[in-house]
Formats: sequence, C-alpha cells, structure tokens
Amino acid sequence: MTDTVGEASAGFDGAASRRLLARLRDVMAGSGSGQERLDKIVSLIAAEMGADVCSAYVMRAGEVLELFSTFGLNQTAVHNTRLRVGEGIVGDIAGHARPIALDNAPSHPSFAYRPETGEDPFLSLAGVPILRGGKVRGVLVIQHKDRRRYTEEEVETLQTIAMVVAELVAQGELVNPQEVSSTGDPALLPARLSGTSLAGGLSMGLAVIHRPQLTIRQMVAEDAESELVRLNAAIATMHSAIDDLLAAAALAGLGEPKDILETYRMFAEDRGWLSRIREAIRMGLTAEAAVQQVQNDTRARMSHLTDPYIRERLLDLEDLTNRLLQHLAGRKSEADGGTLPDDIVLVARSMGPAELLDYDQRRLRAVVLEDGSPSSHVCIVARALNIPVVQANDALNRIEPLDPVIVDGDHGQVFVRPAEDIQMAFAESVALRTRKEQIYAEIRGLPSVTRDGVPISIQLNCGLLIDLPHLKASGAEGIGLYRTEIPFMVRSSYPDVKAQTDLYARILDEAGDKPVVFRTLDVGGDKMLPYIASGEEENPALGWRAIRIGLDHPSLLRQQLRSLLRAAAGRPLSVMFPMIAEVAEFDAAKRLLDLELKRLEQQGLEPPSRLRVGTMIEVPSLLWQLPALLARVDFLSVGSNDLTQYIFASDRGNPRTATRYDPLAPAMLCLLRRLVEACNDAGVPLSICGEMAGRPLDAMALLGIGFRSLSMSPPSVGPVKTMLRSLDVAALRQYMAGLYQKGDHSLRDKLRSFAKDHGVLI
Ligand code: PEP
Ligand code: MG
Repeated sequence: MTDTVGEASAGFDGAASRRLLARLRDVMAGSGSGQERLDKIVSLIAAEMGADVCSAYVMRAGEVLELFSTFGLNQTAVHNTRLRVGEGIVGDIAGHARPIALDNAPSHPSFAYRPETGEDPFLSLAGVPILRGGKVRGVLVIQHKDRRRYTEEEVETLQTIAMVVAELVAQGELVNPQEVSSTGDPALLPARLSGTSLAGGLSMGLAVIHRPQLTIRQMVAEDAESELVRLNAAIATMHSAIDDLLAAAALAGLGEPKDILETYRMFAEDRGWLSRIREAIRMGLTAEAAVQQVQNDTRARMSHLTDPYIRERLLDLEDLTNRLLQHLAGRKSEADGGTLPDDIVLVARSMGPAELLDYDQRRLRAVVLEDGSPSSHVCIVARALNIPVVQANDALNRIEPLDPVIVDGDHGQVFVRPAEDIQMAFAESVALRTRKEQIYAEIRGLPSVTRDGVPISIQLNCGLLIDLPHLKASGAEGIGLYRTEIPFMVRSSYPDVKAQTDLYARILDEAGDKPVVFRTLDVGGDKMLPYIASGEEENPALGWRAIRIGLDHPSLLRQQLRSLLRAAAGRPLSVMFPMIAEVAEFDAAKRLLDLELKRLEQQGLEPPSRLRVGTMIEVPSLLWQLPALLARVDFLSVGSNDLTQYIFASDRGNPRTATRYDPLAPAMLCLLRRLVEACNDAGVPLSICGEMAGRPLDAMALLGIGFRSLSMSPPSVGPVKTMLRSLDVAALRQYMAGLYQKGDHSLRDKLRSFAKDHGVLI
C-alpha cells in the first residue's frame, strides 16, 4: 500500500466520550424544536470528535433517508439529499443496520457521490444506524478530509449518540410518526414476502410483533455506583428467571431446548460480557445504556462475520441483552400478556431461544425473522417444537399486529393478509404435508435400499446434544459428521479436557451402539473462537483454519484427541481431520493421535475398542495424492461444501458467488466418480457429508456416481430415503455414463428429467 493512513486522534478517549455525552444530555433537556436540537447535536459531535463533517439522515416514508442536519456539508443539501435504503454507504448502513468505518470512502463499492453535498474532499467516513424498537430510523455519519482509521471507541461513541438521536426521532417532531409507520403499501392489501426457509413446516396464525427493545430514557448516569447496584440486582433476577425457564422446559419434556438454554445460561454468566457492561457504567452511562452500548459494540465487531455459528451466538447475546433490559426496567416480557391470540405468528427482527420459549408453546404457530440463520439456536428450538421459521427482509415494516399470516417454512414464503385463494391453497398444502409426513414416518423403519436392491447407509450430521434424539427417531445408521466446533463456539473459554471428555462421552452414550464420526475442531477464518488469537485475514476461507490451527497449536488438538480417547474407553471411536491438504498433514495429525494413545496406555486407561482414523476430502490437492492417502486412512468423507468452493474458486459465504457454480456440474461429478473408483479399488469406505448429500436430487446423482453412504442433517432423512427407495440405481448409473463429458454448466435439469421419467420421488 503506498498511501499512508493516519491514526485516529489520540485525544478522543473515555473522558472525551463522557464529556460529549454530558453535553448531549444538556441539549436533549434544553429548549428548542426537534430540528434545532438535532442541529446542535451534529455541531457538538463534529466539535468534540474533531470531525470535518457530522450529518444525520432520518428515515422517511418509502424507505428514503433524508439528510436532516449537517455540520460541514453544504447546508443547501439539507432536506434535499435523499438516498434509498441500500443506496450509497449511508443506505448500506441502514440496509444492514450496522456501522461502517472507512479510511477511503470514495473507493468503497457502495459509495454514491452526491455533488450537492460538496462531500468530494472527504476521504474517511464512519457511520452508524440510528435504531429504535428494532427498526432503522436513520443514520449518523462523521467524515474527515484526510485518510484515517477510526478507533473502536469512536464508533462506539457514535453508536451511543445514535441512541440519543433515536429518542429525538421517536419524539415525532422531525418526521410525523404516522409517515414512517406507514408501509407504503395500501395497508390492507394481501402481500407476499419471499424469504429464506430456516425451519420447515406450514402454519397460519395472527401476527404478534415481538419488540423486545425497551426505550432507554436516560443515557448518562449521575452516580455510577448506584447504577452498578441496579445492574447487579437485575443480573440476579435474570439468572433466577432463566433457571425458572430451564425448570419449565424440563417439565414440558423439552429435553433438547433445555440443553440450549443451559448454554444460554452460561452466556449470561460470561464474565467478559458483564465486565464490559460494568466498564461502560464506570465511563458514565446508565445501566440500561451500558447494556445497549456493549450490545451495539458486539454487533459492530461481529457484523462483518457471515458464519452462521457466529451469527447465532450474536442472536443469543441479543436475546440476553433484551432480557437484562427488561429486568433493569422491572418489566415482565410482553410474552406474558394475556391478550395474545390463540394462534401466534411471531414477527421479530431477531430472537433468542429463551425468548421464543417465553411464549405459550401451545399457541405458537410460526416465526418470521428479519435476521436469522438456519443453524441459529432459535431455529433449532423451533424445529424441536415443530414450528416453521422464515427469514424475510422488511417483515417488521410489512406486517401489522394481528394481521393474518401464513408461513410456508418449506419454501421460505410469508403470506400477509392472504386472499381467499391463498387460504384455500394453504388448506390443501396442509393436507398434502400431513400425508407426506405419514409416508416419512412409515418408511423410517423400512430398509434403506434402492428399488433395485442396493443398500445405502444414511447417517446424520450433528453438532449439538439437541440433535441426538433424531438419531433414534430418524432410523439413521449413525452420525457421519459430528461437528465438534459447535459446542466450542458457545463457550467463552476453551473447555478443559474434563469438560470435553464429559461431552464426548455423553454423545457416545446417547448414540448407543450407533457409530459416531467425530471431526476435530474446524474453526478459523471467520469461524474464530474468541479465545484463540488470530489476525484479520484477507481470505479467511483460504486462511488459518481447521487442521492448520490444530497443527500449529498441537496442545489444542492433543487435548481434544485425549478427551475423545478417554470418552470412548472400551467403545469404538472414529476420528476425522478437517481441511487436510496433503498426506504429510494427515501424517502429522495422526502422529499427535498416536502420542495420545501412548499416553493413554501409560496412564493405564482403557483405550477405544476400535479406533478408525479418516479425513475429510475438502481441499482439491489431496485428490492428487490418493494412492498414498488411501494406504493410510480407515475412511474418507467428502466435505462437498468446501470442496465445491475450492474446486470452482467460489466463496461459499459470499451471496454473489455461493450459488454461481452447481455441485451437479460435470467437473464436480467427474471428480467425485474418480474418487469413488479409487476408494472402491483400495477398499476404503467413502461417505459424503456436505449439504448436497441431504438434497434428494443431488443425493440421487451421488448414488448414480457410486456413493453408498450419505450423511445429512436430520430433516433430510425422510425425503432422501423416499428418493432412494424409488430409484433404480443401475439405470441411473447407465444414464449418467453419457453425461460426465458434457459441456453443460450443470446437469441438474437432465438429472431432474431422469427422475421424472423413471418415477424417482425427489
Ligand atoms: C463441508 O465442507 O462440506 C463440510 C461438511 O464441512 P463444513 O460445512 O462444516 O465446513
Ligand atoms: Mg468443510
């Protein structure tokens, strides 16, 4: 890099932040119209933070952000410059409800130049969303002429100030509240929101808007000590309320969510989280503002991470924050309200598992979230309760309280105020779904054999104790992939050998005589654990992750292997290493396992009755070392999620590239066929545990290639088993022989036609 980037001014510290907040309090308490107070606020921020520009954009009807006040930009732009949500950097901040800090804003892909503002000379920009009640109400921005990096403290301060500005916006003086609450749609017309399926199922009910965020009336505290006392009291009542919830979950027989709630309680006791809140109080905030501030800070620090595990942790923390705020306010959750309808469709920006369980489970029909991922805890709990969940952008704006809503969790659709024809289609779909579920239940006990008599092993992918009951219920043969990193990610410190041993032993206990393949820690890149230090990486997917961390920190991997060996004690154990790129890496990992085996013997502890060691096939280089690899391993499992991204050089976490290439492309199928042949020749068992194994059409292709073992998430078992029992695999194999050399982008359509013509139920 040839440009130099100045560091942020060292002068802006905790004391400066406190001074700025105190002055803001005076402005808010003072006289003047909303506009006048906003003008004072932006000038104050610019002066105190040494910024050349400070601007406040306020949300108007139709999702438009209007420049309402500025210090430093042309005053003629005020009330004239307007940006759509998603347009420009300001629109991006509003669209994602997250802060942005840039040392060279004009080079950012979202930069939208507005000549009327005269903003061309300003290179650096830091902006935060103005949030209230879970909605974005505007954006607050500071800019500097020179290139400089903003400190975390500056961004945090802006977030705190944005909370104050949110109160000003909410007072309704700047924009008529009616204007922003109107959706822009004729209020009572039916609407369809197309979203993403997070948990399957189909349900109808009346909308209940879950708005956990409480209004924080006072931001700056008079007396830090009394705020700390209030915080401690609220934490104590929150803990006992979570304990009550745990007891209630146990009473309700919710074995699985209980496990999650326990993790959740651990979060509530997280010292790091609590000490940051206490520190913020000592900086001069009220207890409520401090809780919110730490939440904003966590959100900001983690917002760029797209990994679903991290995002789900973030949602748990969000839930906890809201809970703590409720306790600080001495208020009961809105779920206690006796006025809720009998059929509840919850609509929320985000929500944690405990919040969901606050609602009467007998009345809960579905959940619509603006922010959530399929592996988030709230979705896992929803699945355990058999409730569909859909992620739909803009749901809070488009759905009004008590609107009738149909949630189609199978197709990621939400129908708001559905017309009669949709309601009729809904009734038909419910009947069809019930019939399908009956079929899945019936085939659970039937052999997993293709129509032409080829036995297929169906295994499960798991990562939490909550998944284990599915093993018995689904009729799967075992666990083909236990992702050990998931339990690690919900902890704030690295679990010691005893904690790990207990956990793995419990998994083996629950699995009984069904085999479990434990994959060693697959973290790194954007799936970093808070207690393993790593620098930021330009290409996290190609970075320091999985086995690379294990080999660089052998004590970490050895502790995990030691725990696995101890947990197995006299039982069979299968260990699988992730992201192995070369045989030498496998050898190095295996050496650590051998050392631990020796140690086990020396200590006179019982070894596993049988130890199988394998590796994932995720990194293409390994495919060119197959003879050497096959001579060493007891089994292999294809991680097609990663293998696809590396084969096509196409980031699986980037929405622009994630679906650009299809795993059913000729290149991918050719490569998998070679692998199957090599494993068959060497007599090494091969399985596949990427997402494609759980999609009926993809799984069909895999069987046609020659795979005989598929590992998938529990809900996929019924559909995949239905598919394979209707498949003549010999006919498919013959058909596919003519496909491998085709030049198509994808063979999906051809394979779908085969399924249709041959009565394969996909
Ligand atoms: C894979 O890469 O296909 C896989 C199963 O591993 P993960 O999705 O956990 O990276
Ligand atoms: Mg992988």
